[in-house]
Parts: sequence; C-alpha cells; structure tokens
Amino acid sequence: MLNTIWILAEVNDGAVASSYYEMLTKARAIKPEAKITALCLGGDNLPVDELKGSGADEVVCARHAKLESYDPMYCTAALAGVIAAYDPDAVLVAASAKGSEIAPGAAARLRTGLAAHCTELGVRPDGDLAMIAPAFGGKLMGEYYIPNTRPQMASVKPGVFDRVPQEPRGAAVVEADVSFLDGMSSGVELVERKVSEAADLPVDKAESVVCVGLGVAEENIEKARALAKKLGAALGYTRPMVDMGYMSDESAMIGTSGKTIKPKLYIGFGISGSNQHVCGMKDSGLVISVNNNPKAEIFNVSDYKLVADSGKMLDELLKAIS
Ligand SMILES: Cc1cc2nc3c(=O)[nH]c(=O)nc-3n(C[C@H](O)[C@H](O)[C@H](O)COP(=O)(O)OP(=O)(O)OC[C@H]3O[C@@H](n4cnc5c(N)ncnc54)[C@H](O)[C@@H]3O)c2cc1C
Repeated sequence: MLNTIWILAEVNDGAVASSYYEMLTKARAIKPEAKITALCLGGDNLPVDELKGSGADEVVCARHAKLESYDPMYCTAALAGVIAAYDPDAVLVAASAKGSEIAPGAAARLRTGLAAHCTELGVRPDGDLAMIAPAFGGKLMGEYYIPNTRPQMASVKPGVFDRVPQEPRGAAVVEADVSFLDGMSSGVELVERKVSEAADLPVDKAESVVCVGLGVAEENIEKARALAKKLGAALGYTRPMVDMGYMSDESAMIGTSGKTIKPKLYIGFGISGSNQHVCGMKDSGLVISVNNNPKAEIFNVSDYKLVADSGKMLDELLKAIS
C-alpha cells in the first residue's frame, strides 16, 4: 500500500533543494490522499518553517551535531534509524550526489529494496509504488516494485518532475530521536570547510546549454566554454568527456547517469546521440546539433541539423557573436 510517503528533503547551505518540491509534487499527484512527510536531517538550523509551508502533512526533524555537516556514514545511519522507527510505506530520496550515496546504504540497513535513478513514479493496481527507471543503459524503461519488504524506496532524478507549488496543510512537526548517533564514529573528522570558487552556471538550471561530446577536439573545448559564456548558457558534456579526463567531474554531465536538463535552447557539438545521452536532454526546447556525420542519431532529436566540423563551427559562431 501507499498510505504514508516520506520524502527526504535535501538541504544544501541552508536551502531546501528543488528536488524535494519535485518529489512532493509527484507524490501528491499519484496518491492525493497519502500522508506525506518531509524528513530533514541536520543540526539546529533546519528549515522547518519552509518545510511546514511546503504542502507536506508532517515534518520530521532529525537533529544532531553529527548531522550538521554532511557525513555519509551519519546521514545513512540517521535515515535508516528514523525510517525504522516510523515505518512509512515508501521513501523517496533525490538521486543527487548525496542522495545516491546515502539511499542505498539506508536500504541495505533496512533490508529493503531501492529502485535507483527513477524517472517516473506511479501506483500499481495492487496499490504499491510503481518505480520506473531506465534499464540497459537507457535502451528500455523498467518498472520496478518491491512486494515483500518495507519501505518501498526510490531515488528520483532531480529535474525530471515538475515542481508545482502546493497549498500548506498545517504540517505537524515531530522531533525524531537520533541519539543512537551519540556513540557512533564515522572515522571521518572535518578539519576545514572550503567553499569552492563559483563554478560554471549549473547545467540543470540554465535556460540555454552548450553541450560538447567526443567530436569536439580537446583544443576546442575552451571555445565551447567561451561560447556558452557569451550566450549566458551553461556548459554540459557527455560521459566520455569525463572518462577521457577532458572534464574534471560529472557535475554537468548529461544523461542517464548524469543530469536531466530541460533548457529552452540546447546546442550540441560532436555528440552522437546515444540513448544514454538523449534520455537526459530530450525535453529541451529548441535543439541545434553540429555533427560531421549526416547520419548521426542526434539529428533524430534535433530541430536544426548542421553537418559541419565542430571546431570550425565554434570559430564561426564566436566570430559572429563578438
Ligand atoms: C550504463 C551506461 C550509462 C551511460 N550514461 C551516459 C550518460 O549519462 N551520458 C552520456 O552522455 N553517455 C552515457 N553513456 C555513454 C553513451 O553510451 C555514449 O557512449 C556517449 O553518450 C557517447 O558520447 P559522445 O556522443 O560524446 O561520443 P561519440 O559516441 O564518440 O560521438 C562523437 C560524435 O562526434 C562526431 N564527430 C567526430 N568528429 C567531429 C567533428 N570534427 N565535428 C563534428 N562532429 C564530429 C561523430 O560523428 C560522432 O557522432 C553511458 C553508457 C553506459 C553503458
């Protein structure tokens, strides 16, 4: 059944992540009468008022000094411990960097199932949660369900569901007991916190995205970055760009194992159009692709198809814009 749904509200630098609101919107849409609880892990400064007004029926706060700064060991233990105490039917966690780290650990502790990186949720005819996620590298969509253990756990890709404001429901606030963390040691000691320099525009929030694939030679990557800057766009990339070491991390990687984006404008250079990549950008508004192969698959999902060399095209565009 699906009478009680918990959503882990990820908080980053004091702000509730958009993924929480997206999951709340979806949970309310698939089971309007379910009791929805926002679970929040942290120290003294949890955004309780914001969560109370978010449209959840209940807010459960798990406060502990060891949850003040992110430590996956403590967060996993807290998530599992609180869920075990309250026994909800389903738990939704964002498939963000943090969520993807702690959700499987919590599911293992609870000896229950977790469907990872879901892109759709629904209710099965038997009333259980239907969890839909790409399988076989995005070649098909699999429907997962967890018939024998509770809770039914799903991690949900941020940016996939719409975020629709919900009416506040006068949510009750419950303080969960996480004193079991007192005697626990994660083995990690926070020595110093350094905030990294302002990174490029986040790829999943940008209205325009310039995306590069293996068909962009290494020496042309900076040109693509410059073009993105001139257009006020974010720079995204395919997985091989990370695997080859051209990009230092996966933060702007687009696709089944990366970010899902829906910009108004997507301009792709040297991208073949594999299922795994297209899965993450297919809902973009206007899609323009540059590829020197007229039969490239990316052209099947493009509004404008430019059969051209990506380096030359970048030069021309930069010249035209400046
Ligand atoms: C489990 C799994 C998960 C994956 N997850 C992701 C994911 O999240 N995101 C992702 O992107 N990939 C993912 N992949 C990898 C995916 O299968 C593809 O390999 C990848 O998307 C291809 O990247 P690409 O288009 O940059 O490179 P390629 O497939 O090598 O394509 C390069 C393209 O550039 C064109 N080209 C070459 N030279 C030029 C030139 N001079 N000018 C113009 N065009 C040129 C070529 O014609 C070709 O179409 C995953 C794979 C697996 C197995």
